[in-house]
Amino acid sequence: MHYRPAAERYQQMEYRRSGRSGLKLPAISLGLWHNFGDTTLVDNSRQLLRHAFDRGITHFDLANNYGPPPGSAEENFGRILREDFHAWRDELIISTKAGYTMWEGPYGDWGSRKYLIASLDQSLKRMGLEYVDIFYHHRPDPETPLEETMRALDHVVRQGKALYAALSNYPAELAEKALAILRDLGTPCLIHQPKYSMFERTPENGLLTVLEREGVGSIAFSPLAGGVLTDRYLQGIPQDSRAASGSQFLKANQLTEEKMEKVRQLNALAEARGQKLSQMALAWVLRGDRVTSVLIGASKTSQIDDAVGMLSQRHFSDDELTRIDEILR
Ligand code: NDP
Repeated sequence: MHYRPAAERYQQMEYRRSGRSGLKLPAISLGLWHNFGDTTLVDNSRQLLRHAFDRGITHFDLANNYGPPPGSAEENFGRILREDFHAWRDELIISTKAGYTMWEGPYGDWGSRKYLIASLDQSLKRMGLEYVDIFYHHRPDPETPLEETMRALDHVVRQGKALYAALSNYPAELAEKALAILRDLGTPCLIHQPKYSMFERTPENGLLTVLEREGVGSIAFSPLAGGVLTDRYLQGIPQDSRAASGSQFLKANQLTEEKMEKVRQLNALAEARGQKLSQMALAWVLRGDRVTSVLIGASKTSQIDDAVGMLSQRHFSDDELTRIDEILR
């Protein structure tokens, strides 16, 4: 059926400036790592994207290798974009990345100019786009000179194939060097995408401070720890969950008794705050305003509603923050 976005879509979302740039991102962004490849029915993916946009989520995050198979998330997204969102391209922020293994041989991985530029061209073809809004280097490359990788990002921005350059998975010290190179090239980094959640607090050890000082935004990936920081696994492992899907990134044996005890305690605290654990976990990542956007995944439209519902209950008392630190210790 022909799609028309909800008229009230911009009333429900908060838009936050990415660092000191001109770009605002929704407080909640949707990632297409899972549930957009060829193993998912395209109409399920379509419902997720429509629902997200109807709730004011204007930012969709991809990468060359999302699928499975790699590339298929971009292809399926491109099809949905063409069929449903064509008229709304200027209301969308679309990102993609290169940095992990994408094709065979020495030019399909890591951070060379050769790989990044070829990969972005492939991504644009798969999505049927003339440009992406944000192009990321997906992970640091220990062998390629940092200058070469940053010059490749600067190049694609100057070519107009990406509007902004960005980094992901760079530790604080390396990020600082990369940001300085990009600034000197005249293409300041828009945003950094680290893994950040109650269970993964590494960005608090320097990275968030560097980004704040340098005026660079941050978008936290896996803010729900892949679904662990929700009520999904409180009664066991549901058949339709990521942990049951054979994902190498969330295996059943990672749901240890110790971890689940923390999840139960966090869930009790969330209930006392009158919200779901998933909502408390997202609000916690956004606390203190150092994180621009939380980048969630979703397999159901109700999960998107949960995330948006979080926005009405974002405040934490000092006691609540202390209690969360105690539980996580
Ligand atoms: P999350 O931590 O948000 O996990 C999402 C999963 O949690 C969903 O697929 C769903 O799992 C479950 N879930 C979500 N909401 C709820 C809810 N309300 N109640 C119960 N369960 C819920 O993020 P992801 O790990 O999916 O990562 C998000 C995005 O981050 C990716 O799509 C990608 O864009 C980006 N990313 C970037 C990386 C990088 O290296 N830069 C690496 C990894 C991700 P279920 O399927 O079980 O329903």
